[in-house]
Amino acid sequence: MDVRPSGIHHVTAIASDPQANAGFYLNALGMRLVKRTVNFDAPDTYHLYYGDRAGNPGTVMTFFPWPDAPRGRLGAGQATTTSFSVPEGSLGWWQRHLASLGIEAARPAERLEEDVLSLRDPDGLQIELVASADFHDTDPWDGGGVPTEHAIRGIRAVTLTEHDLEGTAAMLDGRLGFRLAAEQGNRFRFHTNEAAAGVGTVVDVIADPRAQRGLVAAGTVHHVAYRAPDRPTQDGWRRTLAADGVDVTEIRDRSYFTSIYFREPGGVLLEIATDGPGFDYDEPLLELGRRLRLPPWLEPKREQIERSLPELTVPGQD
Ligand code: ZN
Repeated sequence: MDVRPSGIHHVTAIASDPQANAGFYLNALGMRLVKRTVNFDAPDTYHLYYGDRAGNPGTVMTFFPWPDAPRGRLGAGQATTTSFSVPEGSLGWWQRHLASLGIEAARPAERLEEDVLSLRDPDGLQIELVASADFHDTDPWDGGGVPTEHAIRGIRAVTLTEHDLEGTAAMLDGRLGFRLAAEQGNRFRFHTNEAAAGVGTVVDVIADPRAQRGLVAAGTVHHVAYRAPDRPTQDGWRRTLAADGVDVTEIRDRSYFTSIYFREPGGVLLEIATDGPGFDYDEPLLELGRRLRLPPWLEPKREQIERSLPELTVPGQD
């Protein structure tokens, strides 16, 4: 069974105020709200999905916004940075754009032969914009104030911070099909394929034995999802992991994909999500994100759910 992943499917993080979260990802980063739904496991909380025009796998960043969530702590056992691809030559435009919105960003720095602009979202989540030549088959969104020529193409990479490299590297390399491709200091770069072409094909591991353990709350990543092309592949992957002694969940129906979850040895929660059915499964592509969508089993409770959710106004989409 080939369990080689085709890259990151989505990254899910925790936010506090949904309005501030939407403002940042839609207006500042220019992403599209591709789904407004609830956390299927806690339906009094939003689950907001941002992505390219269609929410293609590899472009999607999602949030559980809990208005009263305390600030989390970045640290070991976490995905501590999420990096997005932007076209080469765009970082100057991004610096001016972010400055015009009063958003602080570090000066671009070179790392492993790439230019990187670092910033934080309103809850302190670490974000990077990476100038990258390869941005393949995504469909950038230009409805949020970022022109297509500079728009985010998708997720470039996640960075995992770990107390030690060994266990995590063994899982990435052995079970998940990544290969160590480069290193710089205590940063170890793994690729899903030779050229690391396409979105979401890179994982960096920072090995830091002295790092404090991370605390998952607002401003931290909850889990990282990798792509399975279809349900039989996902099922094969699940059986392989289980046979290897990994504690992996049953397949769960997330409406827009199905999912399995497990932890890598350093503690980061990982998911394998199918590419389909996709975000136009329950509303037309042109109308993605405009209305609250609920899975069939929560639809009977719509009134109660809507009453419990905080107000959320999305410019141009309401
Ligand atoms: Zn997920």
